Amino acid sequence: MLDLTPKSVSERSALRINPCKTCQPVGALYAALGVHRCMPHSHGSQGCVSYHRTFLTRHFKEPAIAASSSFTEGASVFGGGPNLRAAIKNIFDIYNPDVIAVHTTCLSETIGDDLNSYILDMSIPDDKVVVYTNTPSYVGSHVTGYANMLSGFIRCLADSRAAKNGGTAVFPGFVNPGDIREIKRMLALSGLSAIVFPDQSDVMDAPMTNTYVMYPRGGTRLDDIRALGGCGRVLALGGFACAEPADVLDKKCKVPYLVLPLPIGVAATDSFVAAAAEVAGRPVPVELEEERGRLLDLMLDANPYFYNKKVAVYGDPDTVIGLSSFILELGMRPGYVITGTPGEEFVRRVEALLRDYDVENCTVKAAADLFELHQWIKNEPVDLLLGTSYGKQIAKAEDIPLVRAGFPVLDRYGHSYLPIVGYQGAIRLAKMIADALMDRQDRDCADEDLDVVM
Ligand code: SF4
Repeated sequence: MLDLTPKSVSERSALRINPCKTCQPVGALYAALGVHRCMPHSHGSQGCVSYHRTFLTRHFKEPAIAASSSFTEGASVFGGGPNLRAAIKNIFDIYNPDVIAVHTTCLSETIGDDLNSYILDMSIPDDKVVVYTNTPSYVGSHVTGYANMLSGFIRCLADSRAAKNGGTAVFPGFVNPGDIREIKRMLALSGLSAIVFPDQSDVMDAPMTNTYVMYPRGGTRLDDIRALGGCGRVLALGGFACAEPADVLDKKCKVPYLVLPLPIGVAATDSFVAAAAEVAGRPVPVELEEERGRLLDLMLDANPYFYNKKVAVYGDPDTVIGLSSFILELGMRPGYVITGTPGEEFVRRVEALLRDYDVENCTVKAAADLFELHQWIKNEPVDLLLGTSYGKQIAKAEDIPLVRAGFPVLDRYGHSYLPIVGYQGAIRLAKMIADALMDRQDRDCADEDLDVVM
């Protein structure tokens, strides 16, 4: 079937085929799940939230809880205020979360529901909180929705009168729980105590026990989100997911921020480690220096397999920029670099990276889709696909190795537990890439060239 994808590329402005993104509420829901005892709430129809929950569950292989305003025809015409009021009361009565995080959907945005006035008019129990944000899915992507939900928490909760305590907050970006664990491990090794917001570790990778727990022990505490207003600085990892919330916090509470790239690969991890060491006022810990040394050793050892291989990288903007930077460090060549999230800033950032490495003939595009990536590859093939599970059809049709990284990975297990950030994550990525290329070489070589020692 995919062999029927035509080689000739024609310009499309009003149609996406095989999108390289999903809708804003998916990101908003994921962000809200990174807050302790939070019930995400989708203000729209049940169909939307079923999709959002299913999408997250397929990636994390964990239940993603969320409630819905359950719009029917009446709410769609006359507004969803009564539905939201009933929902908030029922959720607090039955499920007893500490906070409900409400996001909109295409439907409630289109009819113009005003969440702010609805929530101001509600009676909310004294010890409970309702936060909200707007996530119209006809603009942006799940990454925009993630950023919007973080901004919503900050607008509703960060305390601008909190006494300045000089503390540090880290916004870890749209990454897996395994990445957040790795970021926290690097912070601990650096001697830096920080508020990590949000924190989906121990929520979306909670251990199996004999008992279902609706609110696992993970997640950023509400008091920590309130205390963000008293922090001395924010390290925001990934400009597309975290710069906007950091800016909202700065404007509200005068907390300066530093936007760093997601720490994927050597240079980006160096930047994070150096920033953490500077804030902690300590030298870079020996453990991290040694991990870096092991990573460089692996990169040198396997260089003949990486060198000059052409790669198509696709997925979320911060992740794709990190992956592109790392494959350049490995000596590989990006041939196509795309994201489904709109915004020309992505193109500017990737092109600047390519200039640093004197790379020419690489196609870079935001708001792109996998159909056009497939068409480009049909015309000029690559040696490797690096991105989400959605590339597997291209991989099969064109017989190209695929290394899965980013969000979502729906067709394999364990990815959300293991990091791609930090030096340890880069060792894992380099191993996955080398394995894919060497498996391919073993498969294609003549019998007499099949060597056991590489
Ligand atoms: S209608 Fe909008 S919010 Fe609902 S699933 Fe579709 S894109 Fe997402």
